[in-house]
Amino acid sequence: MQLKVVKFGGSSLADAAQFKKVYDIIKSDPSRRFVVPSAPGKRSKEDTKVTDMLYICYEMASNGENIDEYFGFIENRYNEIIDTLKIDMSLEDEFKLIKTGFAHKAGKDFAASRGEYLNGLILAKYLGFDFIDPAEYIFFANDGSLDAERTNLTLSDELKHHEYAVIPGFYGSMPNDTIKTFSRGGSDITGSIVARAAGADVYENWTDVDGFLMADPRIIDSPDIIQTITYRELRELSYMGATVLHEDAIFPVRFAGIPINIRNTNNPEAKGTMIVASSSKNDGHGIITGIAGKKGFSTLTVEKDMMNAEIGFGRRVLEVFENNEVCFEHLPSGIDTMSVVVSTAELNNNKDKVLNGIFKAVTPDSMTVEDGIALIAVVGRGMVEAKGTAARIIKAVSDADVNIKMIDQGSSELNVIIGINEDDFEKALKAIYYEFCPKK
Ligand code: ASP
Repeated sequence: MQLKVVKFGGSSLADAAQFKKVYDIIKSDPSRRFVVPSAPGKRSKEDTKVTDMLYICYEMASNGENIDEYFGFIENRYNEIIDTLKIDMSLEDEFKLIKTGFAHKAGKDFAASRGEYLNGLILAKYLGFDFIDPAEYIFFANDGSLDAERTNLTLSDELKHHEYAVIPGFYGSMPNDTIKTFSRGGSDITGSIVARAAGADVYENWTDVDGFLMADPRIIDSPDIIQTITYRELRELSYMGATVLHEDAIFPVRFAGIPINIRNTNNPEAKGTMIVASSSKNDGHGIITGIAGKKGFSTLTVEKDMMNAEIGFGRRVLEVFENNEVCFEHLPSGIDTMSVVVSTAELNNNKDKVLNGIFKAVTPDSMTVEDGIALIAVVGRGMVEAKGTAARIIKAVSDADVNIKMIDQGSSELNVIIGINEDDFEKALKAIYYEFCPKK
């Protein structure tokens, strides 16, 4: 039998009705053996996530305010689930312990982690599964990074003793035994860690969308769903702002070659998106996998006669960015010009220092900064095989009357990135999308 690790996000576990859907999904497939829950999320647009409520409440306690009423709202979120589903349990003792922890300044991470912890207790009881506290099996190092190897060894040993178990997401423990959480959205990472430790066949990540969309639905009307995407394509797209999954969630499963399947708790029939290490050439996939983009970039262009003959020129320019802690995104260059594309916000933190530094380092003939640049990344493993993709992108954009300021084809031939004026962003994105996915 297959082994599946299933992670459910906050909206999938926001209230009793959602819990019931999760129950049905898990019970419909006995290979869904290890379950990683988030804390209850928003029940409506205006609602507050339990994790946010816990942060607020801890802050109140730290300021010496009385938290009885506010903590009561958190208790209600859990009690509604327990009562509506008639689960035979009470969390009263747990609530008391958490409040004591708050009073003794157990830490912000401890506070936030209780959202997942309590949800895990309920879900384990509801499903009749064992409960595994990740505080004992997921370890961080002193510098706050995940101790991946120790975690994997200890957790995989433990999982062997359980046929079915719930392991709350989002947290683990520090070498001094205090609780530490991942960054926000970090239950995705826990799911990935558990999948690796269990040697799962697939890591199902259940959320509230049918899968990754080919483009931002705020710009493209009902974009197609991506059926299969490789880890590398996903990195390219999520770097450009397309997010469904926590970035760091990719690493543990990628390491172990386990595919991730993004699924929709509210539409379990949909197959979702498969994230895989590599895919066969004939998987029926088009040239383009997805298009994403971001505004807010600047181009700093350095010009100097005979630049190409000056050894170390590029290094000296980049060193200035490094010394001022500005990351660069792209480096389109000509014979006597070198352009560095950076985030405007990052550059503005240290703009004078960067400009003066470059001046000193390479004495350029001229130097210009242009703000208001947007980047669009067209990503697709199909591009390697298809001739003329860059030409099609350029033609589509120029037919839409948009001027291309920069073009950069990754050497992996996995992406083409274009730089345009921010005002043209939506127009250019639409032009590219409909070039490859004509309106039906
Ligand atoms: N509950 C945490 C958050 O809201 C972690 C998660 O849901 O993945 O960020």
